[in-house]
Amino acid sequence: MRLSRYFLPVLKETPSEAQIVSHRLMLRAGMIKQQAAGIYSWLPLGFKVLRNIEKIVHEEQQRAGHIPMLMPTLQSADLWRESGRYDAYGPEMLRIRDRHDRDMLYGPTNEEMITDIFRSHVNSYKNLPLTLYHIQWKFRDEVRPRFGVMRGREFLMKDGYNFDLTKEDALHAYNRHLVSYVRTYERMGLQAIPMRADSGPIGGDDTHEFLVLAETGESEVFYDSAVTDIRLGDRAINYDSVEECRAVMEEFTSLYARTDETHDAAIFEQIPEERRRVARGIEVGQIFYFGTKYSEPMGATVQGPDGKPVPVHMGSHGIGVSRLLGAIIEASHDDKGIIWPEGVTPFHVGIVNLKQGDAEADAACDALYDSFGALGLEVLYDDTTERAGGKFASMDLIGLPWRITVGPRGLKNGVVELTCRRTGESEELPPEQAVEKVAAIYRAHGIGRV
Ligand code: ATP
Ligand code: MG
Repeated sequence: MRLSRYFLPVLKETPSEAQIVSHRLMLRAGMIKQQAAGIYSWLPLGFKVLRNIEKIVHEEQQRAGHIPMLMPTLQSADLWRESGRYDAYGPEMLRIRDRHDRDMLYGPTNEEMITDIFRSHVNSYKNLPLTLYHIQWKFRDEVRPRFGVMRGREFLMKDGYNFDLTKEDALHAYNRHLVSYVRTYERMGLQAIPMRADSGPIGGDDTHEFLVLAETGESEVFYDSAVTDIRLGDRAINYDSVEECRAVMEEFTSLYARTDETHDAAIFEQIPEERRRVARGIEVGQIFYFGTKYSEPMGATVQGPDGKPVPVHMGSHGIGVSRLLGAIIEASHDDKGIIWPEGVTPFHVGIVNLKQGDAEADAACDALYDSFGALGLEVLYDDTTERAGGKFASMDLIGLPWRITVGPRGLKNGVVELTCRRTGESEELPPEQAVEKVAAIYRAHGIGRV
């Protein structure tokens, strides 16, 4: 993409309405525009990152054997009356009446709807196990929408629902989700720690929240610092294996890590003092096992092996897709701007032409642009006539991991400058070598053509 043809409305001033750094940077980098309290337009740069995050979520869900689908945002109140949640949910639910005076709502979550789909089409235990998911906009009329996309009213969530014959099978689904979530966040360059949590209005017995440690996080968390040393890395997981998923789940959850709702001071004190941590975190996901809480009242039963109807065991599992943009920026920025992890960056590399209009510099930039394109990598090429300082400031603000600077002086010696956004380190290289170096880094992340 050539910057001269793109739509990137960066702001010079720091917007006064934003209290935390991720919100400020998303506004300044022209990623979002607020349209009403907690409701945002996703401008092209923000939309690109949102799509990248969704793509990772889809890939990891499907790797775990979960099946994508799409349910509507608007739901009929009748389903929610069946589960008893129409009255229980409270003012966070946006209630709407259509022209025929029918009660509708903008879905804050989809347990009822998915249970309805299940009971309409699945009759036998032979169709289990089944996990369906979608990525869809939700609406919750939060009392205090704030921090930009972190606590919106309209927000994008991946929500998935498992249906199993027995509690053991449903716990396997729970463990499978836990492991696949860890992998999902790691691919986004994030460490999200599974912490034992409280189930709240969804209800249920077992639940973990995934928290990204950050000073601006809304949750208070208590953990054993050794938990931050555990990583999945590129270890292959057999998601069909009950034992393997349980073992990995236990590896990630055996150390103390809890939100304030489940915190137990007596157990916490038993951790060696130097490893005890009290901190703040951003909730980027949550998994639940809740058994037959919805299947029983809504009649979601299957015929079991003995021919008798049994209510299915269910769980629901959510990832805060739009909140993740804020969480990633909170975890990865400096005083110049955002630093995107390679896995989610909106463009893989930025090219800055120091002398637009100079035939040699323009030709060198065009050649670099084409080389990256041939390797399946996306470039943002600053081909404007702005002065160099301004170009660098914008590139640093929007946070592309790699930048190549092209100018007549370097070209005379056959080199361009390659700069790493995270370390700020630069080196001079012949253009082909700069391309190869950047391509190799992305290849290691599974990005670009081989
Ligand atoms: P919170 O405690 O932050 O209000 P929640 O526990 O009510 O969230 P869940 O029902 O667990 O939310 O939804 C799954 C995920 O959706 C959460 O882990 C979070 O990442 C995201 N999410 C929830 N509410 C919002 C919101 N208002 N804005 C953006 N993302 C949200
Ligand atoms: Mg939650």
